[in-house]
Amino acid sequence: MSNEAIRQQLLERRQQLAVRADKTERDASHRDEPLSSDFAEQAVERENDEVLSAISLEARHEITLIDKALRRIDAGQYGVCEHCGENIDERRLQAVPYAELCIQCASKADQL
Ligand SMILES: [Zn+2]
Repeated sequence: MSNEAIRQQLLERRQQLAVRADKTERDASHRDEPLSSDFAEQAVERENDEVLSAISLEARHEITLIDKALRRIDAGQYGVCEHCGENIDERRLQAVPYAELCIQCASKADQL
């Protein structure tokens, strides 16, 4: 896959994530509806908000990773492991297009 195709893919994914993050943040902030006056209901709503904010945090985190990947494309560093400098396996990049580490370094990092 060319860098240009990868860039397009990353930008599309970034756009989806931004929409999801915005939507979940809106839902969690209850701009339209106040918290229920029923305590049990409130507990459910709070729990729901926590799930929503976890989703939006995750989306924001992924956006950060995508932005870094886009900068690596610009710098001609895309697909190179940040740790050992080896090329990252093509299949790994297809699964995780913003991967920063090759599979060997990533599995070592997981064990830390
Ligand atoms: Zn590596």
